[in-house]
Amino acid sequence: MTAILELRDVTKVYGSGASEVRALVGLDLIVRAGEMVAVMGPSGSGKSTLLTIAGSLEQPSSGEVLIEGVSLTGLPADERARLRRRRIGYVFQDYNLLPGLTASENISLPLELDGMKARKASAVARQVLEEMDLADRAGSFPDELSGGQRQRVAIGRALIGDRRLLLADEPSGALDTKAGEGVLRLLRKACKGGAAAVMATHDAQLAAWADRVVFVRDGVAVDHTSPAAGPESLLIADAEPPR
Ligand code: ADP
Repeated sequence: MTAILELRDVTKVYGSGASEVRALVGLDLIVRAGEMVAVMGPSGSGKSTLLTIAGSLEQPSSGEVLIEGVSLTGLPADERARLRRRRIGYVFQDYNLLPGLTASENISLPLELDGMKARKASAVARQVLEEMDLADRAGSFPDELSGGQRQRVAIGRALIGDRRLLLADEPSGALDTKAGEGVLRLLRKACKGGAAAVMATHDAQLAAWADRVVFVRDGVAVDHTSPAAGPESLLIADAEPPR
């Protein structure tokens, strides 16, 4: 299946000399269409750095990042920004909704930033609101919404357009596990539709939603788990062996 995200031997070093921090060290990761991967590890182990680099918000010190087979290395900055705007959706810990914009405007913002006319962007946002079961809250401002509704607006904004890679940093960070599960349910749905998702979490209950868990420690991927293979896996000719 298509690799949506591929990290090849990625190292990220912050600072230099005595203050040098190796946030990621020689990390390899492939996430395919339809797959949800959880990244777990103690605080400071490199989870956020991994997401930031996967989302092309920062560049690795060495190694390569490919999105749908396109290497970001050497891609001009404007093309990288376009790819980021069009193909990658982020769900931030605190949802980062703009308080002065309605639910609909928050959702359509990425499309408008990408040059789509407001009227068209708003029509697309309406569809997303319907999918998120929020059609009746289109004109509400974030502070008029419940926590769960705000969360769905944030996911709607991350999914709008033709996004293929969804990145979520501690989706339950500001909420409880149950609310975090609401996020995961929507991410899973997007994966079913052909996207790929990577989420950083230290909540094992949330990680259980993932197809695979990658454990990082001191910037190194120390272990991978795959779900137990069910009998149906025998029917899949090209099933990958567990790692
Ligand atoms: P996690 O998300 O697992 O808590 P991070 O990726 O945030 O870990 O951080 C990994 C390491 O890199 C930590 O030691 C952190 O202090 C360091 N780090 C992260 N971002 C920066 C930065 N912008 N400048 C300097 N050091 C950083």
